Amino acid sequence: MFRIRRVYDDETPADKDAITEVQDILRAQFPGLSKGDIAKLPDQLRNPLKYRFRSILFVAEDSKGHVDGFALLFHEPVLKFCYLDYISAAKQKTGSGIGGALYERVREEALYLNTLGLFFECLPDDPKLSRDPEIRKQNAARLRFYERYGARPIANTAYETPVKLGDDNPPYLVYDDLGQDIELPCETTRTIVRAILERKYKGVCPPGYVDMIVESFTDDPVKFREPKYIKKQAVIPVRRYIPVDKRIVLLVNDRHAIHHVEERGYVESPVRIDSILEELENTELFHKVAPRHFAESYIKAVHDHKFLDYFKTVCANLEPGQSIYPYVFPIRNVARPPKVLLIRAGYYCIDTFTPINRNAYLAARRAVDCVLTAAEQILGGYRLAYALIRPPGHHAERRAFGGFCYFNSAAVAAQYLSTYGKVVILDIDYHHGNGQQQIFYERSDVLTISIHGHPSFAYPYFSGFADEKGEGTGRGYNVNVPLSENVDGEQYQRTLEKLLGRVVRFHPRFLIVALGLDTAKEDPTGTWSLEAKDFEAIGRMIGSLRFPTLVVQEGGYDTRVLGINARHFFDGLWSGTYTL
Ligand SMILES: [Zn+2]
Repeated sequence: MFRIRRVYDDETPADKDAITEVQDILRAQFPGLSKGDIAKLPDQLRNPLKYRFRSILFVAEDSKGHVDGFALLFHEPVLKFCYLDYISAAKQKTGSGIGGALYERVREEALYLNTLGLFFECLPDDPKLSRDPEIRKQNAARLRFYERYGARPIANTAYETPVKLGDDNPPYLVYDDLGQDIELPCETTRTIVRAILERKYKGVCPPGYVDMIVESFTDDPVKFREPKYIKKQAVIPVRRYIPVDKRIVLLVNDRHAIHHVEERGYVESPVRIDSILEELENTELFHKVAPRHFAESYIKAVHDHKFLDYFKTVCANLEPGQSIYPYVFPIRNVARPPKVLLIRAGYYCIDTFTPINRNAYLAARRAVDCVLTAAEQILGGYRLAYALIRPPGHHAERRAFGGFCYFNSAAVAAQYLSTYGKVVILDIDYHHGNGQQQIFYERSDVLTISIHGHPSFAYPYFSGFADEKGEGTGRGYNVNVPLSENVDGEQYQRTLEKLLGRVVRFHPRFLIVALGLDTAKEDPTGTWSLEAKDFEAIGRMIGSLRFPTLVVQEGGYDTRVLGINARHFFDGLWSGTYTL
């Protein structure tokens, strides 16, 4: 078993290892390659302008993350073509279907990039060009493989002219139109061939040689060799659905429904998740992954041990259905918490409407497993992940719950990811993200940003002011943008635009979005008037930053539109990331 995923750069340990293994395969399978050519791979991924091609690397990995094969694709967005530079399985893995799966993934990509098609070189099967029968047999097998996809050598040109006279096996230039029935005009093809020779073979092909090859393309449209191996043309079509590695990893808290406060007015209810899921299931954007269990130490990295232990114990001691609301608050004598567990609730809480009940701990614990699994998938190479969870978390502080929140899941994920690089938590819930502000207030490696209703009229009332900017080394790394009671989509987008500039200047490795949908028109807990199209625009703006992004569900309570707004947000996020 293997899976194919895209490696964007060498920033995370998983991607760094993958690139090293790709380099090992290059060394083993292409002994003629220079050391410099192999070493430049990470730079090629990072600096498209320098190489005048966007490099796209796909790896086929086994279940342990070992690379069994790879494909390196060049994309030329102006001339609209792709050039397949390498496709290879590791030596011991040839013939295991990896080459075929990689080629199909490459075709999907070339089609998604709206290109004319895929060009690549293939060694010849003509005895005049390939003298060694053993090598010729291998060449023929490759050409037969590509012919199944409708990819054939371009005919009647001098492309297969050796650069050095007498060299054996000068390659054909092969073209795959990806099933688009494209006729290649002569002039377009000449420009493409020149780009390939000048960029790929910089310093190898002398200018006179390049001119000679380019001018040898005279058929208009370009002609191809007749099918040689596959007589009955049943060309393999390109799969047109979204490939798995481009989907949004979806983690759903499968135990959320056990936390159900059935009191009137408690809007944080299980139906919220169902109404979002129902809409998401109508799209192809998501790839669902089961949550994995993580140790308590991840929670203790952001929450006070005593708070965690208290919450766990008090929940376990309650009768099913029993809800405890805090009612005594230690504003004067914090050092002496009440002995009776139920009374002590106020010692760890910021309001009087978030109850403790038997299942609150279990549901919140599972929500944390979901965000950590999602974060792990981001580290493993996925660009986008969504933890669809409840209870929400962004009001939970280091040693306090409240605002329907118990554990600050987004903060737990941020803490975990921060060991690999800088993190931004962008909170777009209607209410201030006081939890992560307080948790990271003195740190400069996690930038916390929140756009919300001004605390003069919106929960949590005591924080979210613009002058709360962080402390110590964290000074300048907390940004609050409190807005007035009436905000429409346009004003919101203008505000967000400015803040995204701040995100980019911070150069984060990861972006966490605390997604509250309570900014929507008629939300029972908000006063703003965002609509579906605004959520799409917001998603697109965030996606176009192209950071590895983990979205964590926070608030949003109008279940008539929750799903629709979530779907629009993710449509925007996905297309911002992949299609703009
Ligand atoms: Zn909210």
